[in-house]
Amino acid sequence: MNNKRNYEYLLSDLSSLKGVGTKTKNLLKKKNINNLFDLLWKLPKSYTDRSLSSKVKDLKIGEIQTVTIIPQKYNFPRVRKLPNRVLCTDETGEIDCVFFNSYEGYIKKILPLGREITVSGKITHFRNKYQITNPKYLSEDSSLIKQVHNKYSLTDGVSEKIYNKILVQIIDNLPDFKEWHSKSIMSKFQNISWNSSIKELHKPKNIGNFKSNFYQRLAFDEIFSTFLVNSQIRKKIRKIKKKNKNINIKKQNTLISNLDFSLTNDQIKSLDEINKDLSSTNKMFRLLQGDVGSGKTIVSLISAINTINSGFQVAVMAPTEILARQHYKLAKKIFPKNINVELVSGKSEYKTKKVILKKLEDNKIDIIFGTHAIFQKKVIFKKLGLIIIDEQHKFGVNQRKRLSDKGGVDCDVLLMTATPIPRTLTMTIYGDMDISIIREKPKNRKPVKTYSKLEAKIDDVLKYINKEIKLGNQIFWVCPLIEESKKLDHSSAVKKFEYLEKKFPNQVSLLHGKTDLEEKNLILNNFLKNKFKILVSTTIIEVGIDFPNANVIVIENANKFGLSQLHQLRGRVGRGDKDSTCILLLKSNLSENAKKRIKILKDTNDGFLISEEDMKIRGFGDILGFKQSGIKNFKLADPIHNSDLFVLAEKEMRRIEKFNENIAKFKPLIKLYDRADIINDIA
Ligand code: ADP
Ligand code: MG
Repeated sequence: MNNKRNYEYLLSDLSSLKGVGTKTKNLLKKKNINNLFDLLWKLPKSYTDRSLSSKVKDLKIGEIQTVTIIPQKYNFPRVRKLPNRVLCTDETGEIDCVFFNSYEGYIKKILPLGREITVSGKITHFRNKYQITNPKYLSEDSSLIKQVHNKYSLTDGVSEKIYNKILVQIIDNLPDFKEWHSKSIMSKFQNISWNSSIKELHKPKNIGNFKSNFYQRLAFDEIFSTFLVNSQIRKKIRKIKKKNKNINIKKQNTLISNLDFSLTNDQIKSLDEINKDLSSTNKMFRLLQGDVGSGKTIVSLISAINTINSGFQVAVMAPTEILARQHYKLAKKIFPKNINVELVSGKSEYKTKKVILKKLEDNKIDIIFGTHAIFQKKVIFKKLGLIIIDEQHKFGVNQRKRLSDKGGVDCDVLLMTATPIPRTLTMTIYGDMDISIIREKPKNRKPVKTYSKLEAKIDDVLKYINKEIKLGNQIFWVCPLIEESKKLDHSSAVKKFEYLEKKFPNQVSLLHGKTDLEEKNLILNNFLKNKFKILVSTTIIEVGIDFPNANVIVIENANKFGLSQLHQLRGRVGRGDKDSTCILLLKSNLSENAKKRIKILKDTNDGFLISEEDMKIRGFGDILGFKQSGIKNFKLADPIHNSDLFVLAEKEMRRIEKFNENIAKFKPLIKLYDRADIINDIA
């Protein structure tokens, strides 16, 4: 029977289990538990061993004990405050079952006189007699009580009894899969099968045994299935044949030599990788990853001009209009005059838009900049050859997949992200793409000087700001929340704006999550044009925009932010050639952890390093971009503690890719673990 079960059994609906009715099903659904497989990750938190029974005379006071007794006499006092009692005995002595707030009828039902019953609970002593108060574990069938009872976290409203009952059913019926891993992988886990691993995982004695072979094996399965799915997507995309682009290196180099800086080594290397993809007959699906201010834009624009020079159109999508406009302006500036550069904005009039659409269709526009609007259905390109997407860390793998299909076969795709993340996560989140990394910062870049300051000393900060304003510089002032929340003790951007406005009349503006789009654009543009000096905002300051004149950023309640986020915020300044400063305002009493974090930030400017440290301190869930990435969270695997498993999984995946191994044997693994359902048609 067991052997016939396959992965479909585990993917079946919860109602196939005994003891799961609509109510339980709905409660579990709320916890995102939709099938038997999901339930496998509901692990006991602790357990109570009720399996051994004792005679009354041997009962140990203060401990949870199991005893088989016969109820002899009810004692239901009239006085309300007194508890109801049932005198019970075995051949060695007497014990009272004591009930507070229970109806007589109920007590008579669960403890009928003269019938043997097995009870388990904490033993106490009262007036020289043993007693159990409000016993919950009792039955005439002693085998139901004499067990090890697992305890589960009960926040979802499902009782322990139900969890015990349903998990036993699944675990007793686990399919015996044919092993999907290679011998060499299996030897790393002492050859323990998936089936046995799950069984071990649920044994109460194994709670928290993270180093064990079964735990490691299951964590590996999780990581490996993610990598495998990514690899399959990548392979599929690479298989798409396209018309190659002929890169005109001479024109490219002329453009580069006209820039007022020289490219960094990493910029050159990334550009080479992109050029190779563009000139190949396989579709490019590449991520350009680089720290804030590492100079991704110019790399993407050079790729664009190479694409245009080989006779194709390019579309550049930015997350905001301001950023789209900034890229557009840069292209206008550095591209030869004969290139048709266009910007489509939400504000463009209907007529203008129509003209632009027509021109795109007639191949009269070489490159167009805009927000997601440029990918609407009605936008038709004559010969789209490259899509560039800036600051896209909010895209999940599904969205990316759709994107790679967009634009037709001849269209390459380049995505950019300024979210440096640890390598283990890069493989997890972006494993479906090829990756170019810019680690090196431009040579002229001065590190942002980072200070921490107690809020009590805000006057010093104001003095400093005043000095900077007199030098013609601008300031970002970041507050964590928009409205005062006493509970969280966050500063309020609104209050801070009012406060600063008094100190620096007519020089301050406010941006927060509720500012409408048009006003926001206006404010940002005015800031860009240096029309006011201090921009107070919540964390919504746009990613990617260059404000060369802003060289000070003040971050309030800095310890409320993650390291990576602080680093991103700090990256808003220090893009021009001025000295720049980041001031972390802190309330007193920082925890040791918070102190550690702030120190890392002061010590280094390397976003990749910072993200590694951030992950070590706060766990991977908090790393920027991970939560938004749309990929499921791991159930067991942890990029910090299992980094060796991530390395192993990558190695194994590369091996499979290299030998072009048939992955049909992984079908159950993928079916079970890949909830995104990206691969429907393997094997
Ligand atoms: P990001 O990688 O965050 O998108 P940008 O592309 O906006 O960074 O570049 C930030 C700034 O650095 C821009 O003003 C850009 O002109 C400048 N820049 C880019 N590459 C170099 C370089 N190699 N040397 C000097 N400045 C550079
Ligand atoms: Mg950018």
